[in-house]
Amino acid sequence: MSFEIVCFDCDSTLSAIEGIDELANRAGVGAAVAALTTAAMNGEVPLEDVYAQRLNIIKPNQAAIDWVAELYIQRVVDGALKVVQTLQAQAKSVHIISGGLRQAILPLAAYLGVPATNVHAVDIMFNADGSYQGVDTNSLLAKTGGKAAICRQINPAQAKLVLIGDGQTDLEAQLAGATVIGFGGVVTRPAVQLSANYYVQEASLLSVLRFIIS
Ligand SMILES: [Mg+2]
Repeated sequence: MSFEIVCFDCDSTLSAIEGIDELANRAGVGAAVAALTTAAMNGEVPLEDVYAQRLNIIKPNQAAIDWVAELYIQRVVDGALKVVQTLQAQAKSVHIISGGLRQAILPLAAYLGVPATNVHAVDIMFNADGSYQGVDTNSLLAKTGGKAAICRQINPAQAKLVLIGDGQTDLEAQLAGATVIGFGGVVTRPAVQLSANYYVQEASLLSVLRFIIS
């Protein structure tokens, strides 16, 4: 199968880190934030409630976002640059779709050669002094079903679209008719392995090319 639009999740897919967890640990609130994440994963609290709650505990300022942006690049997954370059050389449109913070991901996107207009993530707002103001709680990606909504939005002509990701939210893209390649190179999640159209376990992202380029 050959795809025209190729979307990548960011955390634990293009980069080996989970950005919000790293920010929480840096701020000394790792346990409190992890408890909220677990509550959302168990269905006790809706994702849309937990999203802003977690950021309101962490309150990352501009310096914290610059710090995690650098970490995303330092921990880039093996083969990520080469896979993006290979796809773009074949005139495929490459996007990043992430529930993470847009400003933290943009430098990684630039490093990979993905245009900023193809980066779909949640905006963070700062006060004039660089302190934390809030996150865009209206963002589709701060809500359940967000990845499917973005897949529809970027693909009005219903071209063949594939999404590569490690997590449960990445599977939502299937609701928009996308093919999902589960990536287990950083973290293996059995539920994703079970429901993804394809699954790769290799450490290098280059392993997904065999499913994308016919
Ligand atoms: Mg992920």
